[in-house]
Amino acid sequence: MDFEYTKEEEAFRSEVKAFLAENLVPKSEQNAEFLADWLKKVRQKRWVGFSWPEEVGGGDGTIMQQVILKEEMAKAKAPPLGTDWMGIAWVGPGIIQYGTEAQKNEFIPDILNSKHYWCTGYSEPNIGSDLAALQCKAVRDGDQYVVNGSKIWTTLAPFASYIFLLVRTSNFGDSDAKHDGITALLVDLKLPGIEVKPIENMIGGKNFAQIFFDDVKIPVANRLGDEGKGWTVTISSLANERSSIGEVTAMYEKLERLKNMVRETSKNGASAIKDQRVRRTLATFEAKIESMKLNGLRYLTKQIKGEPLSSETSVNKLLRANLEVSMSDFAVELLGTAGLQLKGQEANVDRGHWARDSLRWPDVVIGGGTPNIQKNIISERILGLPKD
Ligand SMILES: Cc1cc2nc3c(=O)[nH]c(=O)nc-3n(C[C@H](O)[C@H](O)[C@H](O)COP(=O)(O)OP(=O)(O)OC[C@H]3O[C@@H](n4cnc5c(N)ncnc54)[C@H](O)[C@@H]3O)c2cc1C
Repeated sequence: MDFEYTKEEEAFRSEVKAFLAENLVPKSEQNAEFLADWLKKVRQKRWVGFSWPEEVGGGDGTIMQQVILKEEMAKAKAPPLGTDWMGIAWVGPGIIQYGTEAQKNEFIPDILNSKHYWCTGYSEPNIGSDLAALQCKAVRDGDQYVVNGSKIWTTLAPFASYIFLLVRTSNFGDSDAKHDGITALLVDLKLPGIEVKPIENMIGGKNFAQIFFDDVKIPVANRLGDEGKGWTVTISSLANERSSIGEVTAMYEKLERLKNMVRETSKNGASAIKDQRVRRTLATFEAKIESMKLNGLRYLTKQIKGEPLSSETSVNKLLRANLEVSMSDFAVELLGTAGLQLKGQEANVDRGHWARDSLRWPDVVIGGGTPNIQKNIISERILGLPKD
């Protein structure tokens, strides 16, 4: 493995750093006007959808340039490169790969210009891990599908304009053929017959929802890929969600924040950073993040060689979920009751950051697939163990 960067890659890193030095302001000054200007500027640089082909408006960035861009943005704690994160992460790539010209023209510019939010309708009230068993039903009627059923835990649905929806168009109740007969639809959430009911999470946010579909008529022109072949579209979408290159830098940032908090917290009359057990725990976190980094580099090498990535990314998803939870719980434990106070509550620390992180564990642990499912994937597809 070669850890050196080429001259061109170093030049690109300097370009990103210079942009940040010129355009980034402290967090306290990042008002709505700044963010609108930021989004315009990063779009002009073609850093929104940086990995996408130029002909659809992307940046055609090489894999290494994407890594450098993500690293520098995360290090600087810069605002995101575009706000429609599901659109950028998997809906857009799905449309670029499987979409018609009309779909590309209709949806891609808006994703790049942060015009809307997309959300993702996979899970159903009785279907989660075993996603291929989904039952939300679509029946073809001329040039439209009539959809009935429900989706749940749909992140961002209360604010989104569109949903990337998986429905069943055939093989109803046939568990042997469940991977066939799933169809992907690009759906306007304002269509008649759609009801979005927000669900409150543990910190009082209403970020996700249950969505009900009652005889919703969706044009066949909004189908992504072939009828019944939505599983293939989905697999490539989820592989995007599980790639982990940028996450390692964010984990290092979190560790730095944790160390700072530990330095300022007293334990047995001295700074907690002097406590042996605390130091050992911090060192373990750092070693685990470093192993995530090396794993990420191993996958990166595969990508650079043009080898496809799929199940390997489950390793870092699993490591990250464990680490995020352990780090937040460690912070809350060290801070005692103050660690449980949320922003606005009397004795909060770091504006309730650690309590919020600790209570948001389902985001990193369950969202995108539970640890048990990641372990199944790792054992079956990487270690070659017998099927679950
Ligand atoms: C914060 C958050 C955001 C989410 N956002 C979205 C979203 O935007 N869109 C969307 O479609 N969904 C979303 N989800 C739903 C998420 O994808 C599902 O919750 C997840 O896939 C698990 O499904 P489930 O809840 O039905 O649990 P189940 O699949 O019923 O699992 C219950 C338990 O059984 C275990 N289990 C299940 N099958 C196996 C097996 N074969 N072997 C071993 N153990 C097993 C699981 O690990 C888990 O511990 C979100 C969930 C959360 C918490």
